Amino acid sequence: MKLSPSKAAKSSKPRDIRQAQMQSDFAAAGAMRDRFPLLGELQVTLAFASANDPSPSGQSFTLYPAARAFFKYRCPCADCDGMTDLGPAVKELAARAQKSAGQSTGQLLCQGTRLANSAFSQSCTLKVNYELRAVPQRDIETRAAS
Ligand SMILES: [Zn+2]
Repeated sequence: MKLSPSKAAKSSKPRDIRQAQMQSDFAAAGAMRDRFPLLGELQVTLAFASANDPSPSGQSFTLYPAARAFFKYRCPCADCDGMTDLGPAVKELAARAQKSAGQSTGQLLCQGTRLANSAFSQSCTLKVNYELRAVPQRDIETRAAS
């Protein structure tokens, strides 16, 4: 199927298409313990800052070795089709947090489109501030032993 880049807006619901894509990506993602065998725990904290609307409330997750290694998060704005991909940031952090705990912070801009109604859409540009904390497996073993 080919969507014309112009008004393909017959409620072909890009958000639904994106949602389906994310679900299949999620299903295909390996476990944390396979992707990052030395990581014991990964904490993900997201805070949002909107220029216009009230900012959505923040989110936080803790991923353990059995969790899926999946780091795409949907934009919290109900009418936005965007998502934030923390995959590269996680990979970078995991590479240096194998022996001692590490953290990484940054800001991404939602690239999605707000579809309040199909005739009038605008870029989302929600700011996504993320904080990642990685704890290596051996720190967790030490913690458990003490
Ligand atoms: Zn958005």
